[in-house]
Amino acid sequence: MFSDLAGKRILITGSTAGIGLAAAKLLVKQGAKVAINSRALNDVAKAALNEVSALGNQDDVIFIPADLTKTSECEKLVNEFTAKFGGMDVLINNAGGLGGRASLELIDDDFYDHVMDLNARSALMVTKYSIPFLRASAAESGKTSSVISTGSIAAREGGGMGAGIYAASKAWLHNVHRNWVKEYTKDQIRFNIVSPGTVDTLFHADKSEELREKIAGSIAFGRFGESEEMAPSFAFFASHNCSGYITGQIMDVNGGQMCP
Ligand code: NAD
Repeated sequence: MFSDLAGKRILITGSTAGIGLAAAKLLVKQGAKVAINSRALNDVAKAALNEVSALGNQDDVIFIPADLTKTSECEKLVNEFTAKFGGMDVLINNAGGLGGRASLELIDDDFYDHVMDLNARSALMVTKYSIPFLRASAAESGKTSSVISTGSIAAREGGGMGAGIYAASKAWLHNVHRNWVKEYTKDQIRFNIVSPGTVDTLFHADKSEELREKIAGSIAFGRFGESEEMAPSFAFFASHNCSGYITGQIMDVNGGQMCP
């Protein structure tokens, strides 16, 4: 079923660590051409590029630096990707993060802007600049192209203490997809969300062992998810063979932490 991923040109934002890196590795193993991204080509990015490249054809894996909180860098990322690969078949909006914690009475404009730019503006602007290429991809193939965004369980349940804006930014993302379905299904572009529960990545680096155990106890499987357990859902939505008639959906990958 996943054989149509071979040769697909896939841009994955925020993919030098955690969930995005695991998705990149799986997609390259399926024969896809992949660009990974983070803010800068630092040691972490270099290691990620080596790791992903080793799984496929070296020419088919690139790293593109771009700070996606800035619209101009979102545009630059899409331009560099399409210049290298001659188009785009699949976009994965994965860049994002907590962006800090602040209770309602301590939220100021800078905090609000930072969290929304990181999670909402980044996906909005990368998608905006990608649409012409995704439209062309679908027209050329006679099948569908695909946008997949990483949502969150927080979008459904409101987020942890101090993470209200983060949770709202992911709810924003879940909802804006519904609008894009209305506008772009005529162009054969699909929009789906992979919505993780609590996944063991740097995202949770600020948590004590005690808090981790408490959270694990709230998950039906009794443990955090692993990034590798998220990756197949991205492959599913990237593949026309698997999900060509699925759009506007949210796939909750959360070990039974919540059953919406
Ligand atoms: P992570 O911190 O391990 O990875 C985040 C990636 O995004 C890194 O590659 C980082 O360099 C990149 N990044 C951060 N800011 C960026 C920017 N401004 N521009 C470009 N790249 C940037 O985190 P993760 O847990 O793998 O998170 C990936 C996605 O999953 C995020 O959107 C996050 O909100 C979402 N998510 C995570 C969890 C979880 O429990 N880990 C749960 C739900 C949703």
